[in-house]
Amino acid sequence: MLDMRPDCECCEASLDLSGTNARICSFDCTFCASRPEGTLMGKCPNCAGALAPRPARAGGKLARLPASRKRVVNAGGCAT
Ligand SMILES: [Zn+2]
Ligand SMILES: [Zn+2]
Repeated sequence: MLDMRPDCECCEASLDLSGTNARICSFDCTFCASRPEGTLMGKCPNCAGALAPRPARAGGKLARLPASRKRVVNAGGCAT
């Protein structure tokens, strides 16, 4: 199951759980949508894996299986 993290690892932007503004890699590294197409060039800066749009978790499921509230931020910043 995906963590559904609340923020972007690079810039700490808050991400909408029901929207399409989040990008993730296979390890759940999470970024805002402006990153993959820009500075990250479509690759995760942590594992070099491909980034894909994060699917939304449907409303009722979020209540039962809540999204992560833990904000994860890449301390070293993201490579450009
Ligand atoms: Zn960001
Ligand atoms: Zn990654």
